[in-house]
Amino acid sequence: MSDAPQRRYQDVAAELRQLIRAEGVQPGDRILTERQIALRLGVGRSLVRDAIIMLEVEGLVQVRQGSGVYLQEGAPDTATAPETEDDIGPFELLEARMVLESAVAGLAAATVTKADIIAMREALDDERRSITEGRDDYQSDQRFHLLIAEATQNGVLVKMVSDLWNLRNRSRMWAQLHSRIFDDTYRSRWLDDHQAILDALRARDCARARQAMRDHLGNVSETLMQLSDSEDPSFDGFLFSTARTARTL
Ligand SMILES: [Zn+2]
Repeated sequence: MSDAPQRRYQDVAAELRQLIRAEGVQPGDRILTERQIALRLGVGRSLVRDAIIMLEVEGLVQVRQGSGVYLQEGAPDTATAPETEDDIGPFELLEARMVLESAVAGLAAATVTKADIIAMREALDDERRSITEGRDDYQSDQRFHLLIAEATQNGVLVKMVSDLWNLRNRSRMWAQLHSRIFDDTYRSRWLDDHQAILDALRARDCARARQAMRDHLGNVSETLMQLSDSEDPSFDGFLFSTARTARTL
């Protein structure tokens, strides 16, 4: 056992494991839907999603896009696997980032310098190029968020924001979530979000910067929930066609 605190989604995963056993689900069978699980266990969908991603990384279940979640053939009947014990749930991570980084952006609006703004603009230019060239990297996204933290001139906040990015970069659960996402239309939306944050910082508007960061990470969380929804692929289509229509108007 590690010293890492037990996380809520790990409790949900343990309950889900028991539920699968109690229901007599056989390997290859589909388990309850996410909605049913959320209802049975009395928890929110994002917690259930984190728990399913964890069980997927452990090899207990298989998520089939557009079909549902299945008990894996030859699934290990074990407790938590060591590689997921210290991991983080992608959606709990995004929630923590929303709380922390919105406050950071609000503070940065008061302390940001012209040099910071120039560096942030360059990060967004890089991000735009990366999207145009179809590169699958998040370096400029990470740099933009870190530059905002650095603009606060508070080393503790810089470390906290940086730590959360490092957790994400080495998270197997995050990688698992991303492996199911094939369309990167969403990255253009996030670039627009970044631009709105930069505009608020340039205007030195603390309340607007805070809100813009909150909206951005809320959008990221919501988009990832929709894109990784194994039960409802038609909704993804709706999301993408709306995004495309909006851009051509
Ligand atoms: Zn971002």
